[in-house]
Amino acid sequence: MQEKMEKLKDLQELDQELIGIRHKRQVLADEQQVSGEELARIQAMVDKLDGDIDALKKERAALQQALAQEQDNVQKAEGRLPAIKTQKEYVAVLKEVDTAKKMNKELLDSIQRKDAEIDVLARDQEEKTEELGSLQEKTSARNAEIDAAMAEFDGVLQEKGVQREALLKGLSTTVRKRYQMLLERRGGIAVVEARNETCLGCNMHLPPQLFNNLYTAAEIQSCPHCNRLLYVLPR
Ligand SMILES: [Zn+2]
Repeated sequence: MQEKMEKLKDLQELDQELIGIRHKRQVLADEQQVSGEELARIQAMVDKLDGDIDALKKERAALQQALAQEQDNVQKAEGRLPAIKTQKEYVAVLKEVDTAKKMNKELLDSIQRKDAEIDVLARDQEEKTEELGSLQEKTSARNAEIDAAMAEFDGVLQEKGVQREALLKGLSTTVRKRYQMLLERRGGIAVVEARNETCLGCNMHLPPQLFNNLYTAAEIQSCPHCNRLLYVLPR
Protein backbone atom coordinates (compact mmCIF):
# COMPACT_ATOMS: atom_id res chain seq x y z
CA MET A 1 0.00 0.00 0.00
CA GLN A 2 1.18 3.51 -0.67
CA GLU A 3 2.67 5.27 2.26
CA LYS A 4 0.14 8.07 2.02
CA MET A 5 -2.75 5.61 2.16
CA GLU A 6 -1.09 3.78 5.05
CA LYS A 7 -1.13 7.02 7.03
CA LEU A 8 -4.72 7.73 6.09
CA LYS A 9 -5.74 4.24 7.12
CA ASP A 10 -4.03 4.73 10.51
CA LEU A 11 -5.75 8.10 10.84
CA GLN A 12 -9.12 6.55 10.04
CA GLU A 13 -8.60 3.81 12.62
CA LEU A 14 -7.65 6.42 15.20
CA ASP A 15 -10.68 8.53 14.34
CA GLN A 16 -12.93 5.49 14.68
CA GLU A 17 -11.56 4.98 18.17
CA LEU A 18 -11.99 8.66 19.00
CA ILE A 19 -15.57 8.67 17.73
CA GLY A 20 -16.33 5.57 19.82
CA ILE A 21 -14.84 7.07 22.96
CA ARG A 22 -16.58 10.41 22.45
CA HIS A 23 -19.85 8.58 22.00
CA LYS A 24 -19.39 6.60 25.21
CA ARG A 25 -18.45 9.79 27.02
CA GLN A 26 -21.55 11.54 25.70
CA VAL A 27 -23.78 8.68 26.86
CA LEU A 28 -22.41 9.14 30.39
CA ALA A 29 -22.76 12.91 30.24
CA ASP A 30 -26.38 12.47 29.11
CA GLU A 31 -27.02 10.07 31.98
CA GLN A 32 -25.71 12.66 34.45
CA GLN A 33 -27.87 15.33 32.92
CA VAL A 34 -31.01 13.18 33.09
CA SER A 35 -30.45 12.19 36.73
CA GLY A 36 -29.64 15.82 37.60
CA GLU A 37 -32.92 16.93 36.05
CA GLU A 38 -34.83 14.22 37.92
CA LEU A 39 -33.29 15.36 41.21
CA ALA A 40 -34.18 18.97 40.47
CA ARG A 41 -37.74 17.92 39.61
CA ILE A 42 -38.26 16.14 42.95
CA GLN A 43 -36.47 18.93 44.86
CA ALA A 44 -38.87 21.44 43.28
CA MET A 45 -41.83 19.34 44.45
CA VAL A 46 -40.42 19.24 48.00
CA ASP A 47 -39.84 23.01 47.93
CA LYS A 48 -43.37 23.62 46.69
CA LEU A 49 -44.79 21.43 49.47
CA ASP A 50 -42.65 23.26 52.05
CA GLY A 51 -44.05 26.57 50.81
CA ASP A 52 -47.63 25.30 50.82
CA ILE A 53 -47.28 23.88 54.34
CA ASP A 54 -45.81 27.17 55.59
CA ALA A 55 -48.70 29.09 54.11
CA LEU A 56 -51.25 26.75 55.73
CA LYS A 57 -49.47 27.03 59.08
CA LYS A 58 -49.66 30.83 58.89
CA GLU A 59 -53.38 30.60 58.12
CA ARG A 60 -53.78 28.23 61.06
CA ALA A 61 -51.93 30.64 63.37
CA ALA A 62 -54.25 33.47 62.31
CA LEU A 63 -57.29 31.28 63.04
CA GLN A 64 -55.81 30.33 66.41
CA GLN A 65 -55.33 33.99 67.25
CA ALA A 66 -58.90 34.80 66.26
CA LEU A 67 -60.12 31.93 68.42
CA ALA A 68 -58.17 33.21 71.45
CA GLN A 69 -59.71 36.64 70.89
CA GLU A 70 -63.24 35.19 70.74
CA GLN A 71 -62.65 33.05 73.84
CA ASP A 72 -61.53 36.20 75.62
CA ASN A 73 -64.70 37.96 74.46
CA VAL A 74 -66.85 35.15 75.84
CA GLN A 75 -65.09 35.27 79.18
CA LYS A 76 -65.42 39.04 79.42
CA ALA A 77 -69.10 38.96 78.51
CA GLU A 78 -69.82 36.16 80.97
CA GLY A 79 -67.92 38.08 83.62
CA ARG A 80 -70.26 41.02 83.11
CA LEU A 81 -73.43 38.91 83.67
CA PRO A 82 -73.56 38.95 87.56
CA ALA A 83 -73.44 42.75 87.63
CA ILE A 84 -76.26 43.23 85.13
CA LYS A 85 -79.37 44.94 86.42
CA THR A 86 -81.93 44.88 83.60
CA GLN A 87 -83.49 41.97 81.79
CA LYS A 88 -82.93 43.69 78.45
CA GLU A 89 -79.22 44.08 79.08
CA TYR A 90 -79.01 40.51 80.32
CA VAL A 91 -80.57 39.18 77.14
CA ALA A 92 -78.26 41.32 75.03
CA VAL A 93 -75.14 40.00 76.77
CA LEU A 94 -76.38 36.40 76.56
CA LYS A 95 -76.88 36.93 72.86
CA GLU A 96 -73.36 38.32 72.60
CA VAL A 97 -71.99 35.26 74.41
CA ASP A 98 -73.98 32.94 72.20
CA THR A 99 -72.70 34.60 69.03
CA ALA A 100 -69.13 34.49 70.27
CA LYS A 101 -69.48 30.77 71.10
CA LYS A 102 -70.85 30.03 67.67
CA MET A 103 -67.92 31.89 66.18
CA ASN A 104 -65.58 29.83 68.36
CA LYS A 105 -67.10 26.63 67.08
CA GLU A 106 -66.61 27.75 63.48
CA LEU A 107 -63.03 28.76 64.18
CA LEU A 108 -62.31 25.41 65.81
CA ASP A 109 -63.75 23.60 62.79
CA SER A 110 -61.60 25.70 60.46
CA ILE A 111 -58.51 24.95 62.54
CA GLN A 112 -59.27 21.24 62.36
CA ARG A 113 -59.69 21.43 58.59
CA LYS A 114 -56.35 23.26 58.32
CA ASP A 115 -54.73 20.57 60.45
CA ALA A 116 -56.08 17.88 58.14
CA GLU A 117 -54.80 19.76 55.07
CA ILE A 118 -51.39 20.27 56.68
CA ASP A 119 -51.30 16.57 57.56
CA VAL A 120 -51.90 15.47 53.98
CA LEU A 121 -49.21 17.79 52.63
CA ALA A 122 -46.77 16.87 55.40
CA ARG A 123 -47.11 13.17 54.61
CA ASP A 124 -46.57 13.90 50.92
CA GLN A 125 -43.60 16.09 51.79
CA GLU A 126 -42.10 13.36 53.95
CA GLU A 127 -42.52 10.79 51.18
CA LYS A 128 -40.96 13.05 48.56
CA THR A 129 -38.09 13.99 50.87
CA GLU A 130 -37.37 10.32 51.43
CA GLU A 131 -37.49 9.67 47.69
CA LEU A 132 -35.18 12.63 47.12
CA GLY A 133 -32.73 11.39 49.75
CA SER A 134 -32.43 7.91 48.32
CA LEU A 135 -32.17 9.25 44.77
CA GLN A 136 -29.48 11.72 45.88
CA GLU A 137 -27.54 8.87 47.44
CA LYS A 138 -27.84 6.69 44.34
CA THR A 139 -27.05 9.57 42.00
CA SER A 140 -24.01 10.72 43.89
CA ALA A 141 -22.58 7.16 43.91
CA ARG A 142 -23.27 6.80 40.19
CA ASN A 143 -21.91 10.28 39.45
CA ALA A 144 -18.65 9.36 41.16
CA GLU A 145 -18.37 6.34 38.85
CA ILE A 146 -19.24 8.47 35.83
CA ASP A 147 -16.76 11.19 36.78
CA ALA A 148 -14.00 8.61 37.09
CA ALA A 149 -14.90 7.02 33.74
CA MET A 150 -15.09 10.42 32.05
CA ALA A 151 -11.71 11.43 33.46
CA GLU A 152 -10.29 8.24 32.01
CA PHE A 153 -11.92 8.92 28.64
CA ASP A 154 -10.57 12.46 28.69
CA GLY A 155 -7.08 11.13 29.29
CA VAL A 156 -7.37 8.72 26.36
CA LEU A 157 -8.87 11.42 24.14
CA GLN A 158 -6.03 13.75 25.00
CA GLU A 159 -3.42 11.10 24.28
CA LYS A 160 -5.02 10.01 21.02
CA GLY A 161 -5.53 13.63 20.04
CA VAL A 162 -1.77 14.09 20.16
CA GLN A 163 -1.28 10.97 18.01
CA ARG A 164 -3.84 12.32 15.57
CA GLU A 165 -2.03 15.65 15.27
CA ALA A 166 1.18 13.78 14.49
CA LEU A 167 -0.55 11.72 11.78
CA LEU A 168 -2.15 14.83 10.27
CA LYS A 169 1.24 16.51 10.06
CA GLY A 170 2.38 13.75 7.75
CA LEU A 171 -0.32 14.62 5.21
CA SER A 172 -0.57 17.47 2.72
CA THR A 173 -3.12 20.19 3.41
CA THR A 174 -5.18 19.06 0.40
CA VAL A 175 -5.36 15.45 1.54
CA ARG A 176 -6.06 16.51 5.10
CA LYS A 177 -8.96 18.72 4.01
CA ARG A 178 -10.35 16.01 1.76
CA TYR A 179 -10.15 13.48 4.55
CA GLN A 180 -11.73 15.83 7.09
CA MET A 181 -14.57 16.73 4.75
CA LEU A 182 -15.32 13.06 4.00
CA LEU A 183 -15.17 12.22 7.69
CA GLU A 184 -17.89 14.79 8.36
CA ARG A 185 -20.07 13.98 5.37
CA ARG A 186 -19.73 10.20 5.39
CA GLY A 187 -20.62 9.37 8.96
CA GLY A 188 -17.08 9.22 10.29
CA ILE A 189 -15.79 6.83 7.61
CA ALA A 190 -13.52 8.50 5.06
CA VAL A 191 -11.08 5.71 4.25
CA VAL A 192 -12.25 2.26 3.20
CA GLU A 193 -10.93 -0.90 1.74
CA ALA A 194 -11.71 -1.92 -1.83
CA ARG A 195 -12.07 -5.65 -2.30
CA ASN A 196 -13.21 -7.76 -5.27
CA GLU A 197 -13.75 -4.60 -7.31
CA THR A 198 -16.15 -3.31 -4.67
CA CYS A 199 -15.97 -0.28 -2.38
CA LEU A 200 -16.59 -1.57 1.16
CA GLY A 201 -17.80 1.87 2.17
CA CYS A 202 -20.87 1.95 -0.07
CA ASN A 203 -20.77 -1.61 -1.47
CA MET A 204 -20.89 -0.34 -5.04
CA HIS A 205 -18.97 -1.92 -7.87
CA LEU A 206 -15.75 -0.19 -8.88
CA PRO A 207 -14.55 0.10 -12.48
CA PRO A 208 -11.90 -2.64 -13.01
CA GLN A 209 -9.38 -0.07 -14.22
CA LEU A 210 -9.74 1.99 -11.07
CA PHE A 211 -9.55 -1.12 -8.91
CA ASN A 212 -6.33 -2.23 -10.60
CA ASN A 213 -4.89 1.26 -10.28
CA LEU A 214 -5.19 0.95 -6.53
CA TYR A 215 -2.32 -1.54 -6.59
CA THR A 216 -0.04 0.57 -8.70
CA ALA A 217 -0.99 4.25 -8.88
CA ALA A 218 0.91 6.75 -6.80
CA GLU A 219 -2.11 9.03 -6.43
CA ILE A 220 -4.89 8.58 -3.90
CA GLN A 221 -8.00 7.10 -5.53
CA SER A 222 -11.52 7.70 -4.42
CA CYS A 223 -14.72 5.77 -4.92
CA PRO A 224 -16.74 7.28 -7.81
CA HIS A 225 -19.96 6.60 -5.86
CA CYS A 226 -19.28 7.73 -2.29
CA ASN A 227 -15.99 9.60 -2.79
CA ARG A 228 -14.33 7.77 0.11
CA LEU A 229 -10.60 7.24 -0.18
CA LEU A 230 -9.74 3.68 -1.18
CA TYR A 231 -7.00 1.31 -0.30
CA VAL A 232 -6.39 -2.36 -1.12
CA LEU A 233 -4.67 -4.99 0.95
CA PRO A 234 -1.71 -6.61 -0.82
CA ARG A 235 -2.66 -9.36 -3.21
ZN1 LIG B 1 -17.90 3.90 -2.20
